[in-house]
Amino acid sequence: MPLSNGRPHMALPGPSMMPDRVLQAMHRPAPDIYSPELHQMVAGIVPDLAYVGQTDGQLAMYICNGHGAWEAALSNTVAPGEAVLAPTTGAFGHGWAEMAQGLGAEVEIIDHGRTAPIDPERVRAALLADKGQRIKAVLAVHVDTSSSVRSDIAALRAVLDETGHPALLMVDCIASLGCDEFRMDAWGADVMVTGSQKGLMVPPGLGFVFFNARAAEVRRAMPRVSRYWDWGPRADPAMFYQYFGGTAPTHHLYGLRAALDMIRDEGIEAVWARHARLAQAIWAAGEAWAAYGPFRLNVPDRAHRSHAVTAAQLGAPLGDRLREWCREEAGLVLGVGLRVGDPDDPTGSGYFRFGHMGHVNAHGILGLIGTVEAGLTALDIPHGAGAVEAAVKVVTE
Ligand SMILES: *Cc1c(COP(=O)(O)O)cnc(C)c1O
Repeated sequence: MPLSNGRPHMALPGPSMMPDRVLQAMHRPAPDIYSPELHQMVAGIVPDLAYVGQTDGQLAMYICNGHGAWEAALSNTVAPGEAVLAPTTGAFGHGWAEMAQGLGAEVEIIDHGRTAPIDPERVRAALLADKGQRIKAVLAVHVDTSSSVRSDIAALRAVLDETGHPALLMVDCIASLGCDEFRMDAWGADVMVTGSQKGLMVPPGLGFVFFNARAAEVRRAMPRVSRYWDWGPRADPAMFYQYFGGTAPTHHLYGLRAALDMIRDEGIEAVWARHARLAQAIWAAGEAWAAYGPFRLNVPDRAHRSHAVTAAQLGAPLGDRLREWCREEAGLVLGVGLRVGDPDDPTGSGYFRFGHMGHVNAHGILGLIGTVEAGLTALDIPHGAGAVEAAVKVVTE
């Protein structure tokens, strides 16, 4: 008998669950886009987003998803024919590199596979080999959502500084911002991109590009920048119409205001700590399941796992069957695996992901773990014992 009616738990790694407070903030009639209240609200959003990213840099907001934020960051900094270096740890790293290719950049990829973080020494070697210093930017994904690998951004800054290479360090924090600890200024990122629908708990549709003075300098030296992506006119919220390159995304902004209030109330360090502890509960369960049978967590080393998303596998076709059972029988929606291309599993049906970003707490994560345990049991998939107990231990420590 299906037991899935009731409020579903969305464990997708984006879009993530929206707090009722965000939904309620959006449920209102169309505002006057020339009203001072709205302009004031947006002026207040800017420093609060900067707080989440731990930066004193500038911010440009776009009506777009994460892919748009990728294109915005590249459009302001890399001209056709210029070179970028893309150390990849999963599908999104390759996606950003392809975006650069599409804009006419020459792209050098350092493929790190899908289970290990960016190796700063490989980046160092590529920078040292770039005798003419043609590389304009290093494109690093902080957490690659497809693999759930987290890389060390400060270590990349160190390598750029030690080699004296002038390339900009551009970081994709679309999955990690507001989940995994990230400090844009202290860690030395020049550009950071993110989106509204993951750790920020707002519907998809807002893209953000943060940039420091060095990146602004690079923008000023560009021969031209496409008008919509140009971050120049987006620096002053008082110029409200220009600020959004046209009509403002009013309802997303109300939702974002509510989400930022929640993050502010909790405090960003507490937000990071909550995600860390809940991720550890999932890992403890996953390691228990993996002790017997086909279950595997994708990233072997805990130090390189994200606190926002966890990729796992059961082998084809059990990953899809588990997802289906959880959704149809229990009201838990897991993320699909993004591992198409594995020669042993060409459709990726053995892979799946747990999203644990944003509006997540212990009861939700313990529910997820208990439901996966039930799914493994119902489907007769052999698995190690003690997963729920292991997670309870982490939560009560
Ligand atoms: C979700 C995500 C993207 C893509 O964002 P869209 O909003 O789907 O365009 C890019 N990079 C990372 C790391 C992501 O998690």
